[in-house]
Amino acid sequence: MVGLVVVGHSRALATAAVALAAEMVHDRPVPIEVAAGLDDTTFGTDATAIMDAITSADRGDGVVVLMDLGSALLSTELALELLEDGVREKVTLSAAPLVEGLVAAAVSAAAGATRQEVAAEAANALAGKQAQLGAEVTLAAGTPSDPPIAVSDGTASFVLRNAHGLHARPAARLVAEARRFDASVELRNATTRSAWVPAGSLSRVATLGALEGHVVEVRASGRQAHEATDAVLALAGRAFGEDSHDLPAPAGDVLAAGILPGQPASARDRPAPLPPPPQHWVGSSKAGGSDNSSGSSTIGASSHTAKATSTTAEATSPKPADIPSTVMNGQAASPGIAIGPVWHLQGGTPQIPDTPPQDAATEQHRLNDALASVRADIEAVKSVTTQEIGPAEAEIFDAHLLLLDDADILDEAHRRIRDGETAPRAWATATERTAAAFQALDDPYLQARAADVHAVGDQVLRALLGITAAPLNREGILVAPELTPAEAAALDPATVTGVLLAYGSPTSHGAILARTRGTPAVVGLGPAVLEVPDGAFVVFDGGTGEVVIEPGADRRAAFRERAAAQEQRRKHAFDRSEGPAVSRDGVTVSVGANVGSVADAAAAAAYGADMAGLVRTEFLFLDRDAAPDADEQEATYRAIAAALGGRRITLRTLDVGGDKPLRYLPGPAEENPFLGVRGLRHSLAHPDLLAIQLQAMVRVARDHPVDIMFPMVSTVDEVIAARRVLGQVPETLRVGIMIEVPAAALKAAAFAPYVDFVSIGTNDLTQYTLAAERGNPALASLADGLDPGVLRLIDTVCRAARGHFEVAVCGELAADPAAVEILTGLGVHELSMAPPAIPAVKELVRGLDLKEAAARAATALTLPSAAAVRAPH
Ligand code: PEP
Ligand code: MG
Repeated sequence: MVGLVVVGHSRALATAAVALAAEMVHDRPVPIEVAAGLDDTTFGTDATAIMDAITSADRGDGVVVLMDLGSALLSTELALELLEDGVREKVTLSAAPLVEGLVAAAVSAAAGATRQEVAAEAANALAGKQAQLGAEVTLAAGTPSDPPIAVSDGTASFVLRNAHGLHARPAARLVAEARRFDASVELRNATTRSAWVPAGSLSRVATLGALEGHVVEVRASGRQAHEATDAVLALAGRAFGEDSHDLPAPAGDVLAAGILPGQPASARDRPAPLPPPPQHWVGSSKAGGSDNSSGSSTIGASSHTAKATSTTAEATSPKPADIPSTVMNGQAASPGIAIGPVWHLQGGTPQIPDTPPQDAATEQHRLNDALASVRADIEAVKSVTTQEIGPAEAEIFDAHLLLLDDADILDEAHRRIRDGETAPRAWATATERTAAAFQALDDPYLQARAADVHAVGDQVLRALLGITAAPLNREGILVAPELTPAEAAALDPATVTGVLLAYGSPTSHGAILARTRGTPAVVGLGPAVLEVPDGAFVVFDGGTGEVVIEPGADRRAAFRERAAAQEQRRKHAFDRSEGPAVSRDGVTVSVGANVGSVADAAAAAAYGADMAGLVRTEFLFLDRDAAPDADEQEATYRAIAAALGGRRITLRTLDVGGDKPLRYLPGPAEENPFLGVRGLRHSLAHPDLLAIQLQAMVRVARDHPVDIMFPMVSTVDEVIAARRVLGQVPETLRVGIMIEVPAAALKAAAFAPYVDFVSIGTNDLTQYTLAAERGNPALASLADGLDPGVLRLIDTVCRAARGHFEVAVCGELAADPAAVEILTGLGVHELSMAPPAIPAVKELVRGLDLKEAAARAATALTLPSAAAVRAPH
């Protein structure tokens, strides 16, 4: 993002101007530095301070400097001379008027404009004022001209409903919204018959002189023309984020399409947070979106047409009977069909213990601390949402943040604390009263906001009471933003019959753990799933990603039928799962289990695992305050070995770092942890920890078939170093490495002298080969292990292995029905997976002829894409 610097004579003046500009872009902060005044009260300018301000405002995309009078310019020019060439080249000095220029520059920088565009916006900042005063408007070079674009996508219009017209704040929101899309959006004031102006330019939008009641036309072209137009109309329908619920709904504009004030037009659009009372941000419906055959409507990350959900479910959830039938589509993460009521991970108001209050100051501190910690938590979820879904969707969390600052709630809580109540009691009463007040309102949207108040209220209450983990095992289908590996590991498949996640991807550790437990799961559903109320009846298919909230009778019956057919197939495979997987042409493929706990090992045996091809030992190390010692590790590894009843276990050394940090061994912050100190790199950086772990493994290997495996290997030297720590090993113990880094795959032959086997970790190999982060739902279709690029690496490993070492695959690809034939055809004769997948994969292998599989695999290597590999043949 382009940075801004304000150079002026008065610090107070410059700071106030920055505050004004920041107000326009509060949800997309722009780096703005002030170099003004010699101190807080002395007027003057200082070249060194300007130089420092420029340096810190520059985040890589350069800086635009705005200055006030005379010597401000001279000092800035001097500062430029002091700067290094590389920095100086990226600085533009703007002749724009300070206040107007700064606001325009901030808005365009926030929208991702280039330095030249930001400078042009600043330079044009007087255009609106000039047009309104009848002066001739001259535009700066670099300003988009009009009419600039060929329009092919039609026009739409809205009636401006803002009492003060399209003034700075709504205009800033409009500009930011228009710029989010890959489209050229233009606006025209149809009432005054203005010229078309680019919607991405604040200064040009200001020239529209659009007042309340004016009709504004929107037209767009480009790839996302429709989405951009819809988004602008939706924003207009929400009066550009200004409180409009008391405005009459004009006919013929976007409201006529059924969008109520304060409601988004699509799943991507959510109203910006407002000063109290914050806008209600959930629930919308749009005409034309219903599924007539079933009485349902469709939503989902890709759906652009309709949305029908209710509120975040806590104490005031609507009764299931009130919930419209809704279809969502997410990513299939763990196969199986789940049918039942949903519950939210953080549901339920905690009980407040009857403890006597401490003094008021202490109780006050408790409340402040709890508010701060919940604020940090919500900010964190918001930031994940921003990254994984988009800033518009992340705005939903602003409403919750606003509730933490709600003057009404805080005033009452403080008063009650002063009157002698404990902080939890005072807070609970204050939020309950506010929620009840919302509930009592006539407006259904404001009524439903009671659920938001409860959600935030309970979150603060839990922080106050030190309840860190929400209860994880209620009956039914769990709904959560995302699951940490620790949370997923704690799920009891007997009670949690399914998992629906707003974020995450099929290869995230949460999803892997759900598969491991045989718990059907769909991930990447977007924040809308968090709004499905507690108790709503849901059916979903974890094998296809289809989720139906409150299905009609037909859909319920269809899902039950599908479930019955799947169950029949599953049972047939399960009954035969103890036997070996021998292909039609007589080749035995070992089918084993990935294990992340002792319970998983028991499940592995029950599902007929031939061995444990991967024991993720990190489960023993995470979520605790100190590493387990050798005795504790030995006992756990023995328990796993015992559960597998003499079958071989492959113990992987600690694979932390990346998305699995160790609380008691915090490393320096890393820009990109997946490319950082993780896996074997981490172990070699902590040789004592590695030595203790290897010692425990070797002890078990004395009386049980054990393989030791090092994860995330990049170089031969790492393996040599790890083997040095391992020392002499019993004859029966095999040592291997995971191939997860493309470089390791390409030089697989070089590892031959040091390993007995390799196991290909296709989750990481795929993410590194395609440069597509494994947990990023936006990249899930890109991160496909059947991409021919990944397959070629696997082929390289298999070729290098022949006659030298064994090759296994233990990434998620091993259980992918579309991959089994290709992997075995390439020469992989060991597959390891989540235990519940074992019976079906064994059945698949039994149906294969590996000579045919080899031919199929050879063809797959030549195909252009994963989709082509997956295509029916
Ligand atoms: C892999 O990367 O494929 C793998 C099996 O390791 P993990 O999923 O534990 O990173
Ligand atoms: Mg891995």
